[in-house]
Amino acid sequence: MNYETVVGLEVHVELSTKSKIFCGCTTEFGGEPNTHVCPVCTGMPGSLPVMNKGVVEFAIRAGLALNCEITRYNKFDRKNYFYPDLPKAYQVSQLYLPICQNGKVEIEVDGVKKYIGIHEIHMEEDAGKLIHDPWDDCTLVDYNRCGVPLLEIVSEADFRSADEVIAYLTKLRDIMMYLGVSDCKMQEGSMRADVNVSVRPVGQKEFGTRSEMKNMNSFKAIYRAINFESKRQIEILEDGGKVVQETRRWDENKDASFAMRSKENAQDYRYFPEPDLLPIEISDSWIEDVKSNLPELPEAKRARYISEFGLSEYDAGVITSAKQLAYLFEDTTAICGKPKEVCNLVMGELMRLLSETSTLPEDINVEPKKVADLINLISDGKINRNVGKEVFEEIFRNDVEPVKYVEEKGLLMLNDDSLVSDTIDKVIADNPKSIEDFKGGKEKAFGFLVGQTMKALKGKANPKSVNEILKEKLSKL
Ligand code: ADP
Ligand code: MG
Ligand code: ZN
Repeated sequence: MNYETVVGLEVHVELSTKSKIFCGCTTEFGGEPNTHVCPVCTGMPGSLPVMNKGVVEFAIRAGLALNCEITRYNKFDRKNYFYPDLPKAYQVSQLYLPICQNGKVEIEVDGVKKYIGIHEIHMEEDAGKLIHDPWDDCTLVDYNRCGVPLLEIVSEADFRSADEVIAYLTKLRDIMMYLGVSDCKMQEGSMRADVNVSVRPVGQKEFGTRSEMKNMNSFKAIYRAINFESKRQIEILEDGGKVVQETRRWDENKDASFAMRSKENAQDYRYFPEPDLLPIEISDSWIEDVKSNLPELPEAKRARYISEFGLSEYDAGVITSAKQLAYLFEDTTAICGKPKEVCNLVMGELMRLLSETSTLPEDINVEPKKVADLINLISDGKINRNVGKEVFEEIFRNDVEPVKYVEEKGLLMLNDDSLVSDTIDKVIADNPKSIEDFKGGKEKAFGFLVGQTMKALKGKANPKSVNEILKEKLSKL
């Protein structure tokens, strides 16, 4: 029998508001344990939550970008569960009236486009972190993350392959970063996904029984986990067995998933309306205001780079794949007015340096003004391209001022043809073997002679005149 994999995702995104969702504590990652806390986020009796308006604004932004309806009247509910990372023993979340509903996102895999439905987005508070200490055989708790605002983005079970899931997560991550609502650093857990997987015979309408793997924070692990889980379930069905609904844990080292606990139902959480917070009413004018201030999203940028700046589809795709790259490209182009040159520099040198230094695009620290100055130096014929590469590396690594750097290091291009001519004469005299080779038809010898000339002139000659003068001299030999 042929089976089809069905996946639905619950993605948690930590919001980059300055303060937590119900108190004034900082949301900053890390810090000494239990230093970013107060009576509210540690659940002290008698303390009361106050809603952070910024969280609502970010949720509206995300909802609009994911084509959702915004719930004008939404409210919070308590999800009760007893676990030491949650000092109140309940999590404030939204069950009955989440802030966003019925959205959709378009993804593309192997040239095929399709929509993934967004069931809802709700706001909630994050829990603390447990740290298991094997030396003292005890568990410690850090409440710094407690009360950090989260959006939970719940998809429909619309995915039919691991590739579709990765395409969606990549897009979601891009959109959230462009919106400025989250840094989506997966390694810091600010974007993580609960992955629900089931299988069914092709043609069957009803979904199969699913398993769920919680809190996954790497694309690679998610990809492998889906394929593993799908295969495991198919084998059970083929053997005449039944898949049980359960929460499973993905073990990255063993490359396999393991049963953790049977799945809890909504009634296990004894949800009830949160009595300490007022319902949230969102006016049309607030939504209009957020809408008109939405930043341009990656897809729109890509299309504009192609039509406005004449970039290739590929280049536009790479540059818009990270917000920092796109802004560097745009801001630099705005200053120097040379989109093609900026594009070449980003696609070539910048990409090379990022990979060489294992730097993430979000950590790029390059001023557009400096890059624009550098590009002008090259196009004005003040320095040649190779020197340009060297200077860009200096900007990237050491934040140098290009014009000053070029002057101080004496890197300005030599436009003195008589000096080039004299140097070539010397090179010809010093390399009789290469001249023979050249006469014998060896093209490589020409390149070698250019190289020797450049070297003698410390790389500062204009390659075009070196080529021309050398060619002329050789033809007369
Ligand atoms: P819960 O809140 O109990 O985890 P939901 O009904 O809210 O369950 O669904 C959570 C996620 O699981 C959603 O993304 C949904 O699309 C997905 N899902 C539900 N049923 C299935 C299924 N049979 N196979 C795969 N995914 C599923
Ligand atoms: Mg779930
Ligand atoms: Zn607090």
